[in-house]
Amino acid sequence: MKRKKRTPGYFGRFGGAYVPETLMPALAEVERAFAAFQKDPLLQREFRELLKTYNGRPTPLYFARGLSAHLGGCRIYLKREDLNHTGAHKITNALGQAILAKYMGKTRLIAETGAGQHGVAVATAAALLGMKCDIYMGTIDMARQRPNVFRMDLLGTRVIPVDGGGKTLKDAVNEALRDWTATVRYTHYIFGSALGAHPFPTIVRTFQSVIGRETKKQLFAAEGRLPDFIVACVGGGSNAIGIFDAFLRDKTVKLVGVEAGGLGLNSGKHATRLSPTPNSRPGILHGSYSYVLQDRNGQIANTHSISAGLDYSGVGPQHSFLYKTGRVRYTYATDREAVEAFSLLCECEGIIPALESAHAVAYAVKEAPKRPRNDIMVINLSGRGDKDIFTVADYLGKKI
Ligand SMILES: *Cc1c(COP(=O)(O)O)cnc(C)c1O
Repeated sequence: MKRKKRTPGYFGRFGGAYVPETLMPALAEVERAFAAFQKDPLLQREFRELLKTYNGRPTPLYFARGLSAHLGGCRIYLKREDLNHTGAHKITNALGQAILAKYMGKTRLIAETGAGQHGVAVATAAALLGMKCDIYMGTIDMARQRPNVFRMDLLGTRVIPVDGGGKTLKDAVNEALRDWTATVRYTHYIFGSALGAHPFPTIVRTFQSVIGRETKKQLFAAEGRLPDFIVACVGGGSNAIGIFDAFLRDKTVKLVGVEAGGLGLNSGKHATRLSPTPNSRPGILHGSYSYVLQDRNGQIANTHSISAGLDYSGVGPQHSFLYKTGRVRYTYATDREAVEAFSLLCECEGIIPALESAHAVAYAVKEAPKRPRNDIMVINLSGRGDKDIFTVADYLGKKI
């Protein structure tokens, strides 16, 4: 496979577009169309209108009185991305890219999915805009996530089983890229996170950056100032970069990304790429240069997390850059800490969070008690936890 390096789309030395030569024209077409899309007032209005009337934006910024009082430290706000249509932030990107695809004259959407959340978001956007949709999914993931497979079916999307390799997300991406290469004339590939070859990390960040803009405005209305902390979980990195983006230049705001610590860094069973661990090194995965969990021979390492959305060996290139420059502090929460935070939020606030988001809450559980009452911490609650109740029941040894 011949790889070519392009100059735009770099974050320091991270990012780029390391793809087969045959895909370069497709990426260039998306890049051009996205630039035009951003300058087109009609399309922008269509997108904003859908975000408002279909998605439910702006999502509330909620003062978590119960959680703040329980932890006894700083004041905690929750950015309620869990209240988006389909239950997480992913729909914002899926809708934006689906409109972009239509604008490019494409009639078909494809995507990869691991746990099925991104697949459902894309299938939803396809149904809404009347487009054909095929989602690639590993057969192991299909067996684990049957409700989401059926949701996509209900939405009129075909789920294409991927039986090669490890039969999970990584293999689904490879198959989707292969499809795209052959069908790019009428197909757009919607990446699910701020990952992959340029221009995808930039496009996904741009769509998700509405989270941070809303947060800034809402917190000014509530408190008249910037927050001291913003905390978000990091899978591929889209909800995190989405809320961080508006604050990157506000140097007094501490930005914290929380990865999946799984069973602990020494166990080897985790998905922590941006903390010092022996098996995370920069490398190329799915089209960009970024930190990747790999073994001694450079083979992509298997990851583990209780939350499917954080269970990935690569991370968006901008996060690697923000890690290297120190602008964002990256840490991790283990499965156990995430489940404890999950239960705590249920009991203190009456909110069942996604297990992914519970990793960010776990950081607050550790840090908030140490902070003075005047400090403000915003947690990006990326999604709701209805999808996770069986996993949590299993973990706690309870029967549903
Ligand atoms: C997919 C998902 C994530 C992880 O993806 P990012 O791109 O890192 O945001 C986090 N939270 C929820 C609820 C998700 O569905």
